[in-house]
Amino acid sequence: MRVGLIGFPVKHSISPRFQQAAFDAAGIPARYEAWEVPRERLGEVVESLRAPDALGANVTIPHKQAVRALLDEIDPVAAAIGAVNTIVRVEDRLVGYNTDAIGFARSVRDDARTEIAGQKIGVVGAGGAARAVVAAALGEGASSIVVAARRPEQAEALLADLAPLNRSGTATRAIRLPEGEAIGDSPLAEVAILVNTTPVGMAHRPDEHDLPVPPELLRSDLLVCDLIYNPPQTALLAEGAARGARTLNGLPMLVYQGAAAWELWTKQPAPVELMRRAAEEAL
Ligand code: NAP
Repeated sequence: MRVGLIGFPVKHSISPRFQQAAFDAAGIPARYEAWEVPRERLGEVVESLRAPDALGANVTIPHKQAVRALLDEIDPVAAAIGAVNTIVRVEDRLVGYNTDAIGFARSVRDDARTEIAGQKIGVVGAGGAARAVVAAALGEGASSIVVAARRPEQAEALLADLAPLNRSGTATRAIRLPEGEAIGDSPLAEVAILVNTTPVGMAHRPDEHDLPVPPELLRSDLLVCDLIYNPPQTALLAEGAARGARTLNGLPMLVYQGAAAWELWTKQPAPVELMRRAAEEAL
């Protein structure tokens, strides 16, 4: 059986390592491959997933949005997020899901041992990953969500698109990313969980040692989350820890979104701890 990761580029992805480890441990004869797919071949590659030997696929940058039009059905959470990261073949139909929100929610609950329900959440950035984080916060029943972006209109559009998932009366607000002045007045100064969804701080980027928010926002009673997992401790997480905050990086989210996809393909519980170890080794 075949399954794989559709993206461009995909060479450095660690998903094949921990997904294959899970198939091997479960004795499922599936091969998980990295498929480097340029935009012009996306249709053909997705179509090939209708074959009886295909389980489905994961989808990553830059195809998470474009792939939606090629599927037969989209799960409501993926539809609200506006991105598909998992395709499941059901007979000859292809169904799209987004497991990033599940992955983030589970990482906060199981790894940071924190409930999102009833909490004030601050989200920095308003791209695809921010949409999954906001979907998770709405699904878990956060009391309020502030989305801070350098283009506030992007944050406003995100909140409008995700409004159908707001079933607990969560208060939502889009703001401009604060830039050093009047930090105390920023709605981000009041949150209990602060999540970086921007790429600021990723390894091998010119801003690897930068923080996506002013450090004054990092208080000892915060949970600071960064979706980045390479490096394992970003400048944001290091500064948060130095100020006494609890911290969570993006590796548990990556493993849990992958485990949720694996469960959709196999219809059995994923060996999550084994997947986590394989992911850590691959890094
Ligand atoms: P994306 O769709 O490109 O969104 C990035 C967001 O960050 C946009 O709002 C962008 O604003 C903003 N941004 C970029 N550079 C910035 C800067 N210097 N200052 C302020 N804001 C900035 O990317 P994505 O898919 O959401 O991914 C974002 C990050 O999350 C990446 O590091 C990715 O690896 C990580 N991620 C991790 C997981 C996981 O499982 N752990 C899953 C998904 C994503 P503009 O549009 O104005 O540039």
